[in-house]
Amino acid sequence: ETRVRFAPSPTGPLHIGGLRTALFNYLYAKKNNGKFILRIEDTDQNRYVEGAENYIEEALKWCGLEPDESTSNPGKFGPYRQSERKHLYKKYVFNLIEKDKAYYAFDTPESLDNYRKAHEAKGKTFIYNWHNREKLDNSLLLTPEETQNKINSGAPYVIRFKSPENRELVLRDEIRGTIKIDTNILDDKILFKSDGMPTYHLANIVDDHLMEITHVIRGEEWLPSLALHYLLYEAFEWTAPKFAHLPLIMKPTGKGKLSKRDGDKGGFPVFPLSWNDSKGYREEGYFPEVVINFLALLGWNPGTEQELFTKKELIEAFSLERVNKSGARFDPEKNKWYNHQYLQLKAPEELKVNLIPILKEKGLSEELINSLPLERIISQNKERANFIGDFWELIDYYFIAPTEYDAKASNKQWKENTPKLMEEVITVIETISEFESERIEASIKQYISQNELGFGQIMPPLRLAIVGAMKGPHLFDIMEIIGKEETIHRIKQAIH
Ligand code: GLU
Repeated sequence: ETRVRFAPSPTGPLHIGGLRTALFNYLYAKKNNGKFILRIEDTDQNRYVEGAENYIEEALKWCGLEPDESTSNPGKFGPYRQSERKHLYKKYVFNLIEKDKAYYAFDTPESLDNYRKAHEAKGKTFIYNWHNREKLDNSLLLTPEETQNKINSGAPYVIRFKSPENRELVLRDEIRGTIKIDTNILDDKILFKSDGMPTYHLANIVDDHLMEITHVIRGEEWLPSLALHYLLYEAFEWTAPKFAHLPLIMKPTGKGKLSKRDGDKGGFPVFPLSWNDSKGYREEGYFPEVVINFLALLGWNPGTEQELFTKKELIEAFSLERVNKSGARFDPEKNKWYNHQYLQLKAPEELKVNLIPILKEKGLSEELINSLPLERIISQNKERANFIGDFWELIDYYFIAPTEYDAKASNKQWKENTPKLMEEVITVIETISEFESERIEASIKQYISQNELGFGQIMPPLRLAIVGAMKGPHLFDIMEIIGKEETIHRIKQAIH
């Protein structure tokens, strides 16, 4: 069975890059009838941020990427929070020591510093590993007895991986293909700290093994750890999962990696949900399907021109083969376009649910809101909206008669004889028994032609009177919606 995991560290809000990793894992799992697991990697107590774990779960839920197994929905591989698995890791690191694949290191900050300086004096870069060290200063690894004595004396220590000397590793990444690494450039990473906590590397590998993860799909920033992870699987004599490293997400300019600060500078969200002062996609009025859609195309391509995908379509189309190696440019303008497209596809009844609270917030009474056909108003205006939040400015005049008129348009459209013509229009309107768009249109057109007037003499001032500006959809539709009485009232108000 395919089992993939999203393994964030709760060090802050989930940003858009993390969410993309979660999405690709989710899509891969669902495509292969597998399981999508959420594991919280909280072994680094110093970087723990209150609320971050909750945020991650909320964000996944909002996007519809609910894990099959997680802390709040445990399966049989729990616990799913590493701090609760603390007791598990020790025996694995001892197992490595026994196999001579790991060792105790008692370096103090000063001795590390001396070691670095000794390297630099010889014109070499500082790579902490046992073989370099033995060659450089003859400080051979301690014997088991010496080690034990030091531990007994209470000397602080860490346990490091003993990376092999003189080997060429041939690694495989599902997206990048074969990667060759010379083990002599690897440093001996810390696996276990004296506070009894494993480091990310150890806990991550042990958990992926115990949780029977088959595919590790994660950000490119973890590619440099791949060699160590391979070696750890080898040292444990476990089968390694397959690895896929997702391309970086680049700034809108295309230059450099997208950072959390780019959002503040560019005025676009980089978080799915708000976090402190930073607005999230949810609060900005994006639909969760939109976020999923644009994230899916950040680094993956369907091989066709299709841009709009439902989640179901994404699951069907997704494959790791179509994930790109090169960075994917983040395009906030395109994201808005996606929201616009989805908004057009939404049924007015659905949009109405989100619009009503906004109308109430603007001070409209329930009675007034209910007196007008909101769904029709939405249909007639959604073409001009990217977000639900855009509607108010587009439709306010349906509910509230204009109190002022666009000055520039008035100067141009409201002529000396306009009041007289508008009086006549009122008389025409009064005769219309069934006040319905097409009939209003027919009557007014008839009036225009019978009096040998031009459209330009009637329609623009009429729009000004009713809307207050030269905006809005088909004027006769607006008149029908606000009704005969209100239409007449507005024209009179404009005349006086
Ligand atoms: N805890 C790591 C992170 O925060 C997980 C990396 C991995 O997927 O191996 O990204």
